[in-house]
Amino acid sequence: MGLPAPNAFSFEHLAPPINPDDVWRCLGPAGGAKEKLVDAVAWATAQASELACPQAVAVSLPVVGSGRGRVQFGGGPQIAGRLVSHLFDGAIGGVFTIATAGPGIERRVASLFAEGEALQAFVLDAAGSAMAMAVFADVAAGIGKELEVHSNRVGPCLKPGTDAWALEGQRAIFDVVPAASIGVRLMDSLLMNPQKTQSGVIPFGPNLRIINDPGASPCRTCSAPRCPMRVEAFQGPTLPGA
Ligand code: SF4
Repeated sequence: MGLPAPNAFSFEHLAPPINPDDVWRCLGPAGGAKEKLVDAVAWATAQASELACPQAVAVSLPVVGSGRGRVQFGGGPQIAGRLVSHLFDGAIGGVFTIATAGPGIERRVASLFAEGEALQAFVLDAAGSAMAMAVFADVAAGIGKELEVHSNRVGPCLKPGTDAWALEGQRAIFDVVPAASIGVRLMDSLLMNPQKTQSGVIPFGPNLRIINDPGASPCRTCSAPRCPMRVEAFQGPTLPGA
């Protein structure tokens, strides 16, 4: 049961596909300009796949204590935030994870801007964000599968700089994960370099309460109106037929 901890995960042959819909989601509403951008989005989708060099590194640590708004891990790191102890309710550990699409996409974006190709640069930047999200999702799915093999339930990933966890959380992740081994560093601004990188902590445990599984999480009977970690729509205080 569980996992020996600390435990390092390794990743090989990361090459998650992205498609134009992923890029549109990162571009946001284009309104009347959408038709004019179709070719640029198709081009940027292909370019991002070509320029990406996905890499990831992750380390699991055991939970050794928790209290109001904080969770303590073996080896010293602590994470804190409004939802942290709730999301780690029942967890035996967390997987500290960093995944990057590499520096190639943003270098090309910079050169396009320098060449005066602002539209292409803007769209390729969105494709780079889509690629970073796809790489992280691919890595998190792989981690989840491995955790489940060891009889764990897996929770939604907490990411610094979101409504669920302040950007300050980056410090804990970078204290644990050997980010330099994949060419990622944390800047004084708490942003990451390369920019097309994502980080997070994935809770796990056989008795984890909040799980990343729509249809099986308690979110469906929780009416919290603005919870940023909701994995399923509220269906009422009790389930039909319960
Ligand atoms: S919606 Fe409710 S149960 Fe789900 S994560 Fe948010 S607070 Fe927890």
